[in-house]
Amino acid sequence: MRRLALLMLASMALYGGARMRVESLAAADHRGQGAKPAGASRYYKGNTHTHTLNSDGDSSPDDVVRWYREHGYQFLVLTDHNYLTSVDGLQALHGADEKFLVVRGEEVSDTSGGKPIHINGLNPSRLIEPQGGRSVVEVIQRNVDAIRSALGVPSVNHPNFGWAITGEELSEVRNYRLFEVYNGHPTVNNEGGGGVPSLEQMWDYLLHRGQVVYGIAVDDAHVFKQPWNTQVPRPGRGWVYVRAERLETRALLTALERGDFYASTGVELEDYSSDARTVRIKIKLEKSSKYRIQFIGRGKSPWDGGRILKEATESPASYEIRGDEGYVRAKIYESNGKVAWTQPVMVGQ
Ligand SMILES: [Zn+2]
Ligand SMILES: [Zn+2]
Repeated sequence: MRRLALLMLASMALYGGARMRVESLAAADHRGQGAKPAGASRYYKGNTHTHTLNSDGDSSPDDVVRWYREHGYQFLVLTDHNYLTSVDGLQALHGADEKFLVVRGEEVSDTSGGKPIHINGLNPSRLIEPQGGRSVVEVIQRNVDAIRSALGVPSVNHPNFGWAITGEELSEVRNYRLFEVYNGHPTVNNEGGGGVPSLEQMWDYLLHRGQVVYGIAVDDAHVFKQPWNTQVPRPGRGWVYVRAERLETRALLTALERGDFYASTGVELEDYSSDARTVRIKIKLEKSSKYRIQFIGRGKSPWDGGRILKEATESPASYEIRGDEGYVRAKIYESNGKVAWTQPVMVGQ
């Protein structure tokens, strides 16, 4: 019992420390912006969840990398199930300085009571075996910890796939920053249903409880040979734009873990900045589209999906932080269903 309490204290301390670090990094980043020469950092478009023939994908790693390179992405993480696809040869063939980067990854694919528990490890130093555990929370935590110990960045995948992971369970997990608020696979239940919350409601629940989690959008692409088939997990559905100083694995992963990115299913931003005072959004407008920008904060109760603080129909738009919002994040809606999600600024927590 005492050991458990000590462990909990240790993980709370670790978590609190990480949170402060993220906040101070975000503040430092903002302070530094004025001093940086223009173009010192830029956005790189990437997908962090992809399968090949090395697990249950339908195409070779070479074909998969080629698809992303040819479709305007700057980086790709290959994440086969319980398999670490080598990227050295791919990088030699397709990598190009500041143009394209292939990153190693693994979808550590575990189960708990028959439920699929899948945690991506981005750039781990070695293959990670599924760690198992006695509960959903323990299975997630043990895999997150194993990925960290291999110096990889963990990301919790598709919580509603197989209705496997609840918000309450995720709120008990420590030492992770990234979770999929959107996954392009057609059967992962992003929207929730039957009384189960959507992934975005789950995100607001975690933020409401003060857990700093960043929402990523991914393809989870498996099928590259049937571009006409909307019933299969195809590429080009969800991605992230990461702001980094250069196209290099460590720089990209560090930026992801401090929330310096936004997730998208088709909306691109010309500019986006957030600090303790203001969140600013400028959309890269498409000619025939119209847009809506919502600034969202802490709701009255954990499961109410957050509170709309302000809605704007013109770009650029900004929100001045008062200090009692709990957190502020933005969601941008395009008139044909495309969306972008910016990352939360934690306020007064
Ligand atoms: Zn999966
Ligand atoms: Zn997957």
